[in-house]
Amino acid sequence: MTAAAPAIEPIIGLEIHVQLATRTKMFCGCAVEFGAEPNTRVCPVCLGLPGALPVINERAIELAVRAGLALNCTIAEVTKWDRKSYYYPDLPKNYQISQYDMPIADGGSLDGIRIRRAHLEEDAGKNIHDIPGCTAVDLNRAGTPLLEIVTEPDFHSADAVREFAIRLQRLVRYLGVSEANMQKGQMRFEPNINVRIGTGEDACVTPIVEVKNLNSFRSLHGAITYEIDRQVAQWRETGVAAETGNKSNRGWDDAKMVTLPQREKEESDDYRYFPDPDLVPLTLDRNWIDSIRAALPERPDARIERIVANFAIPEKSAAALIDDRATVDLLDAAAAAGGDPLTLGKHFLGFWSMHANQRGVPIAQLGIVAAHMAELSRLVADGKINATAAAAIADQMIKSPAAPARLAEQLGLFQSSDESEIAAWVDQALAANRKAVSDALANPKKMKAARGFLTGQVMKLSGGKADPKLVGQLIDSKLAK
Ligand code: ZN
Ligand code: MN
Repeated sequence: MTAAAPAIEPIIGLEIHVQLATRTKMFCGCAVEFGAEPNTRVCPVCLGLPGALPVINERAIELAVRAGLALNCTIAEVTKWDRKSYYYPDLPKNYQISQYDMPIADGGSLDGIRIRRAHLEEDAGKNIHDIPGCTAVDLNRAGTPLLEIVTEPDFHSADAVREFAIRLQRLVRYLGVSEANMQKGQMRFEPNINVRIGTGEDACVTPIVEVKNLNSFRSLHGAITYEIDRQVAQWRETGVAAETGNKSNRGWDDAKMVTLPQREKEESDDYRYFPDPDLVPLTLDRNWIDSIRAALPERPDARIERIVANFAIPEKSAAALIDDRATVDLLDAAAAAGGDPLTLGKHFLGFWSMHANQRGVPIAQLGIVAAHMAELSRLVADGKINATAAAAIADQMIKSPAAPARLAEQLGLFQSSDESEIAAWVDQALAANRKAVSDALANPKKMKAARGFLTGQVMKLSGGKADPKLVGQLIDSKLAK
């Protein structure tokens, strides 16, 4: 081949199923609960028993509207419910209640990616394959509310898709719309992938492949990367471009990192969508929508920027902090209560994070009020205690509701500026470290290290409460003698 390699442009759209953070299911009062004993969170409605009637979960509507508004969608004035027919063991009604032609949210955008629509639907149950000799069905998940968000095919690389997915996860968590825990299947991705090969009139496109049910960023990225390569290789081999109707489904093998063929994709005709006769169309009150819009929080990106600027927290850490809304609210509240922003930033990244990690909870659940966090930061910023003492006080604050100043006093951690007391510690440190002292005096290059070491020793002797500035001065003057 002498011709230059043709231009290759991946074209990718995303369908994302997000489990709404409701207490109960979409159309019945059964609890939404991950990991419960199989088939214990079920009732006639979600079991699809004859005669059972669905009742709409208002909270699910509210969360869907919230997400739709944050995705800059138009919220429908009237939305309706449709039956999407298919036959699976984990779908007891043989249809899924979904929204076909009147989705609750329409035509938005996020970070430059167009959102085609977002509609409500119910989840299916789960087939369980790990029992030898049989497949079991657990219907606890059947009827769980999902928001299906569909983008236009605006992505052109696996990286761009992953970046968007991470931002979307952050957004729905931040909005309180979904916990979006992918290990629990609360956020699942289905990319539609094909490739344009060549340019202008000679360009052709490969058949679209939809990869089903990806539940990690890694598998999302891996599946897209694999599909792009596979489609290009197949085109080189067969020269077959897309024809209408040849969209297919593939699954993802996470261990082998390959996609594998699945059933042919149904066209919407096959689903025999029709309006659900058990559910009336829903008219959404404009005032209610406006009140949800007014209550939308600051966008996560804007908030991350603000956290970086106000608290000198690195962007990556700020992004992690805002994953728990209550925690980042606590940080702001501590600053508002008079805390020192820079010190608060250090404390949040330092010992507050450490205590939270040790307990496996977010910082907001450590049980420490904003005013106390603020006070602790002020004690440091005002030079009344040092950083080591602050960490020791924080240890106590976890166990005691007492105010930090009180604890500092009880623990004797207020910084000592008593010169004779500090001088005594300095003498003690110098006496105990004659080698370091004589080295430093013999070799000026070693002076700085020796000085740092001796300061550390004095701080240790003082139990962390000596004023470090005074310590440094006293060491210098004593070494000079
Ligand atoms: Zn139920
Ligand atoms: Mn769906």
